[in-house]
Amino acid sequence: MACLELQEALARILAAVPSPAREEVALSEAAGRVAAERWAAPLDLPPFDNSAMDGYAVRAVDVAAACREAPARLRLCGRIGAGQSPPPEVLSGACARLFTGSPMPPGADAVVMQEDTRVAPEEPGLVLVLEPVKRRENVRRRGGDIERGATVVEAGERLSEGHISLLAAMGRAQAVVGRRPVAGLLATGSELREPAQPLAPGQIYESNRPGLAALVRGAGAVPRILPLVADTPEATRSALAEALGQCDAVVSTGGVSVGELDFVKDALADLGGTVEFWRVAIKPGRPFVFGRWREKLLFGLPGNPVSAVVTFLLLVRPALLRWQGAIEVALPAYPGLLAEPLANPGVHPHFLRVRVDTAGQVYSAGLQASHALSSLAAANGLVEVPPRTTLPRSSPVTVMRWE
Ligand code: AMP
Ligand code: MG
Repeated sequence: MACLELQEALARILAAVPSPAREEVALSEAAGRVAAERWAAPLDLPPFDNSAMDGYAVRAVDVAAACREAPARLRLCGRIGAGQSPPPEVLSGACARLFTGSPMPPGADAVVMQEDTRVAPEEPGLVLVLEPVKRRENVRRRGGDIERGATVVEAGERLSEGHISLLAAMGRAQAVVGRRPVAGLLATGSELREPAQPLAPGQIYESNRPGLAALVRGAGAVPRILPLVADTPEATRSALAEALGQCDAVVSTGGVSVGELDFVKDALADLGGTVEFWRVAIKPGRPFVFGRWREKLLFGLPGNPVSAVVTFLLLVRPALLRWQGAIEVALPAYPGLLAEPLANPGVHPHFLRVRVDTAGQVYSAGLQASHALSSLAAANGLVEVPPRTTLPRSSPVTVMRWE
């Protein structure tokens, strides 16, 4: 089976993702979910002209000549608390006390902030205005933020906290979003142990499922951690059958290379599934398997922890997002400048773990071998270095990041 280029592999995976199912969730639970429909604003925001300050509603012409030496003298005609309606009309020579968010009274066209006024204790019905204001100053205009009918969220957009506040301000309590796929996490390898178990010689603690569970959640999907799988054909087959039965997608690690203890591909075939492709021309992560079983998908990641994470980010994360209806599925990419050279002597594109600082300077995160967890923990991004290439210091690069 030929080794696929990354873009070809991704295209084939995305083409196999089922179309998103939709569900309604409480708005307060909708952060990170993917909008299933376009939402248009049902009302103007703000819904009415209101004050941006604590102060006084005035007619701007009445205070045009005001200064500290010769304040404008305005008669106080009322007090408008936030939520109060209908406000009194402000006639020429008058003003009304109001607060941030108070509706603008008819007649007034500007707000003088409290700091630019004085009220003499002996004359509480008189307000001295010490500074002029322009028309509309300190007034938040109806529709000035969002006009009724404008698109607030596009279908396929992932909802941020900001979107949620905006939809709540429009009176919504629910959001219609794409259903989240359940991704079962299988770790294969007879050497693997669970955290509380003692380690016999040659054994190691399993470290892929917890990290991948976090990445699955970051992609908006639901992780399900499944029991460890020993390296036998029977154990692999029954674990895979169970996992495919209960999950939308299965993300396995290990057992996909060319060793005689690599059973994942055969197990899928035994269950009546199809291996769509095996091997992608990237480093780390070349022995990646993509398969189908009925409408379910299998992502067979290599066992090396870094290979598992990198292939997840490049090939599985996009699928889980598209499953929910997301349009944008690539990792967020930011510009950076290399603070040191990055070399790839190999024949495949190498996704190197990097650390980018707040000034956009990009450093290698450390040892780049595909078992090295120290550099994975230190990394906050990946940089793709083309085959047989050394990118010199100061090269502009694209840093891929994730949540
Ligand atoms: P494999 O892809 O099964 O040949 O595994 C490659 C390397 O990754 C071996 O050193 C395994 O011990 C290691 N490995 C595989 N799966 C895991 C896992 N879930 N946690 C930690 N290391 C693993
Ligand atoms: Mg193995």
